[in-house]
Order: sequence, then structure tokens, then C-alpha cells
Amino acid sequence: AKVLVTGANGYVAVWVVRRLLEDGYSVRGTVRSAEKGTHLRELFKSYGDKLGLVVVPDITKEGAFDEAVKGIDIVEHTASPFHLEVDIADDLIAPAVKGTLSILESIKKNAPLVNRVIITGSVSSVFNAFVKGPARLYDENDWNDSVIEVVEKNPKHSPPIFWYLASKTLAAWEFMEKNKPAINFDLVVVLPTYVFGPALHEVKAPMQLNQSLREVYQYVLKTQDTLPAPEGVYACVDVRDCAAIHVLSAKTPEVGNNRLIASGHGFRWQDISDIAASSKVVDHNVVVRATPGSVTDKSKVSGLVRTDKAETLFGFKWTSLEDTVRDTLASFKDKNFI
Ligand code: NDP
Repeated sequence: AKVLVTGANGYVAVWVVRRLLEDGYSVRGTVRSAEKGTHLRELFKSYGDKLGLVVVPDITKEGAFDEAVKGIDIVEHTASPFHLEVDIADDLIAPAVKGTLSILESIKKNAPLVNRVIITGSVSSVFNAFVKGPARLYDENDWNDSVIEVVEKNPKHSPPIFWYLASKTLAAWEFMEKNKPAINFDLVVVLPTYVFGPALHEVKAPMQLNQSLREVYQYVLKTQDTLPAPEGVYACVDVRDCAAIHVLSAKTPEVGNNRLIASGHGFRWQDISDIAASSKVVDHNVVVRATPGSVTDKSKVSGLVRTDKAETLFGFKWTSLEDTVRDTLASFKDKNFI
């Protein structure tokens, strides 16, 4: 089968491409410029013409994917902005929402063979991050609706994080509902928590890392760009697990029309620092231990979300937090960031 991966040069996407190629799929990746495909071609050159790349410069344009979807069986739509420094809500919401609708329209129009579309969403569409300390674990039946109201009422004055959260909650399911009679495909939305783990994609400098890895770099390592790590409990998933869930979602007919949370472990930033300091991958002197021992509650933190759906459907076992942190640091080292 032939799979289209959008934003193929992104952190998560490169791992999705790799898993697909390893599993024997043919892959067509979209990138925003030819130059952004160079590293990918090099990385996967042993797969020859099993990987093709096409340039889609602006995913928000109507018909942007009309050509890219032709002859495709499965779509993995991962392209979407994930950064918090934007000036107006439109900078974030437009690419996320319009890009999603644009690819769904192109499939409807030009790709009758597509039977499954997998979209990379975010767990932000599940739970409301403004409610402190969840009283229970959230699951796939939860919808973070409140954030849309916040953004719609006050788009110019909400802190950027609101906009990011909102950009993930809109669009695709509405499209499915409206277009039911006219389409041959079903939808799976993968909802990762923070994605950590080794970077295969091209990153020339630490501050150009994607948002989640940059946070590891800035909160855990002593550099000129170090920031104080926020308090609180978060959850994360290994990028290899996240990619595996994307590929399992492509090959498992019965998961159609599901949201799937991808999340391995709960963590506090101090936990990541502790693992880093004892990892032997980096000298413990370069690890920030801002307030060693500040984590007084040593109990294993809960993961914020339930993950039994993916575990049951796929028999999935999550990579350990130790392996994820160690391999993240090793990949920073490979890139000479440490
Ligand atoms: P990256 O920033 O590494 O990759 C994002 C991809 O989307 C790149 O290919 C990028 O292209 C493309 N892209 C960004 N902005 C636009 C735009 N305006 N128009 C077209 N393409 C664009 O991010 P991740 O791999 O970390 O994230 C991938 C997906 O996973 C996103 O949907 C993200 O929201 C989601 N996610 C990520 C989490 C994480 O912790 N990393 C957590 C939860 C969800 P280019 O290189 O040209 O900029």
C-alpha cells in the first residue's frame, strides 16, 4: 500500500516514515520546499524509490494536496505548527484547521482509494490544562471544549498556549460527519502527550529543535539557553512509540473512527533531570538540578490520561522513561548540542 505522510521532515513524521518503510510500505512525503527533503533522501536512501517526496508549499491553500493524494491508499497527516510564540491566533489555528480540511477535501475529490486517514492531534484536545491537578485520569471520551470558547471570545488577548490547544480541537470530526455519504475513508486521531526521544530529523542548532525537545534541552541541561523548569506533573510518550501507534493505526481496520491517546508515563521535570544525571550519557555536571530534592513526593506520578485503549487494541507496551530520556540525550550528543 502507498502512504502519504504530510510534513514528512518533522520530528514525529520522520519516525513515522521510518516505521512505514521498515514495514514495507511505499511512502510519499510532503515537505514545504525541495531543500527540506534533502536530509530525508539521505536518511532513507537505502529504500530507493520506496520513498518519494513532493513539495506542498502552503498547506492552507484550497486544493494544496490535490496532486499529492493521487494514487494513495492511506494518509498520515502530521504537518501542523507546534510552537507557542505566535502573534495572533490565526498564525496557529489557520494552518492547523485549514491544513486539515484542505487534505480531507483533496482526498474526497482525488483519492478514491484512500480508506484510512490518521491525523496527529494532541492530548490538549482531551483535557483542560487550566484545571489544576486532574481529579481523575482523562480518556478518549473527554473533549476540551472550554478552550475553544476562550479563544473565540477573546482571540487577541489569550495567552498563546490557549491558541495551540484550540487549534487541535477543531475541524476533522466535523468534516467526517458532514461528508459521510461522499467519502470512502474513516479517521483515526492520535493524541500524543509531550513527545520525547531521539531526533532523526534535521536540526542544525538546539534552539531550532521542535517545541518538546527544546524544552528538554532548556529545562534539563545547563547552557546559555537554560530556563527554569515549570513545576507540576506532565505526561510524555516516546517518539518511537508515537510513530508505532501511527503505523498500527494504519494497518488495523477495527480502530477506524477512534481517538487514541498515545502516552507512556507521567513525569515531573525533576524526574527527567534525575534520570539525565544518572544516565552516564552526559556528565552530571551539565544537568540542571535546580532544586535537588525539591520533589518531596517520591510516589510515581500518575499519567494524567488513561492509555488502556491503545494497550488493549494493539497490545502496546510503552518504552520506559529512562530509555526515552537516555536516547534523547544521546541524540543531542550526536548532533553536538551537548
Ligand atoms: P515539528 O515542528 O518537528 O514538525 C512539524 C511539521 O509540520 C514540519 O514538517 C513542519 O514543516 C510542518 N509545518 C509547520 N508549520 C507548518 C505550516 N504553517 N504549514 C505547513 N507545514 C507546517 O513538530 P512535531 O513533529 O513535534 O509535531 C508533529 C505533530 O505532532 C504536530 O501536529 C504537533 O502538533 C503534534 N504533537 C506534537 C507533540 C510534541 O510534543 N512534539 C505533542 C502533541 C502533539 P517545516 O519543517 O517546513 O516547518
